[in-house]
Amino acid sequence: MVDVRDNAVPTVDPLTGTALLDHASALAYNIGPRPAGHETENRARSYIRKTLHAMGIEEVKAQPFQTPDTWGYALGTPFALSLGGLILSRLGWPGRILGGLLGGAAAYLTWRAASGMRQPLDQVAPQKTSANLIVRIPSAGRPKHKVVLLAHTDTNRHRDSFSNQRKGMLAQTTTALMGLQAAGAVAQVIGNRWLTRAIGAAQVAGVAAILADERGPYVDGANDNASAVACLLGLANTLNANPLKHTDVWIVFTGAEEVGLVGVHTLLDEYGDQLMGAYFIDLEMVGRGQLSYVAEHSGFSTLSSYAPDPESVALVERTAIAHPSFRVSGKKVTMLDETAAVRRRGYKGICLVGLEVDGWPANWHRDTDAIGNLQPEALERAARFTLATLQTLDAD
Ligand SMILES: [Zn+2]
Repeated sequence: MVDVRDNAVPTVDPLTGTALLDHASALAYNIGPRPAGHETENRARSYIRKTLHAMGIEEVKAQPFQTPDTWGYALGTPFALSLGGLILSRLGWPGRILGGLLGGAAAYLTWRAASGMRQPLDQVAPQKTSANLIVRIPSAGRPKHKVVLLAHTDTNRHRDSFSNQRKGMLAQTTTALMGLQAAGAVAQVIGNRWLTRAIGAAQVAGVAAILADERGPYVDGANDNASAVACLLGLANTLNANPLKHTDVWIVFTGAEEVGLVGVHTLLDEYGDQLMGAYFIDLEMVGRGQLSYVAEHSGFSTLSSYAPDPESVALVERTAIAHPSFRVSGKKVTMLDETAAVRRRGYKGICLVGLEVDGWPANWHRDTDAIGNLQPEALERAARFTLATLQTLDAD
């Protein structure tokens, strides 16, 4: 008998835990660590593109951009500015004023980085080429809503600052660094040489800590964020075969998230006008633990928190109530993710994340973030809950 089915229609359910785990393995095990702008991040994009083509999705738009390959620059360059400023105090009062300004600018730039805003000093870092991959699945009928699904392809380093002992202090540590830069600025302007020297010494210690944190190898990123990419691939397959009636869906595989949300900022730079009013749903580390939505994100300083918009919360809450078996609820989480860029630039957005019983995402920026530590059922829950959320919106 001849099979006359359109080959765009999946013959097996693309949202099973096993199917999703296959995608995650291809990325986190076969390809492995995927630093922003490196060849392996590019290989991850090739895998995504090839997989989408096999589903019958031909149009995959690449949006290339330049990026640093580690976030050390985002924290390190303000320090360089601040230390440079401290040295200027030797040049009398004009040097002190200028040094004070540089110190103030350093504190402000550190705050920007901790808050998920663009870091202008990144331009001085060595640049590599990364890209976003964008797929659009238009609604079958008259479009009433637009959703953007986000998952990043790149991976971070194994970081001591994310150990169980230290991660609870992440936001406080960055705030202390900012305070040091601001205090250095004040000490200079008032001309207190001893205070300036003490703060300079403390800053050198801060730089040393940042450099130590930069020595870790890049991680496989099975949970962060091959898990989310896998879910988006499964959803692309499902939605391409059965588009929603009134909802246009953009599926965006971003590059260079771990170095300062460069991919999502680039997406908004080019497509921001078209996406105003869209619901952004960011999937982060959904491969293990209890699926939750982030009701409040800390950012990476005590002055950097942000939250999803009320409409997105209402949408996710309605879905959670209609599907109690997912047991999804809102949690306050220490994290900085693409939702920061989305929210700070005035868009609607919410983040779905898997949380362990201790309230943290599993194996975050640790070398234990490997394929063997993913739970297929967690992947499946994330993909199916995301689909259910899209269907809730579509029925409106
Ligand atoms: Zn991530």
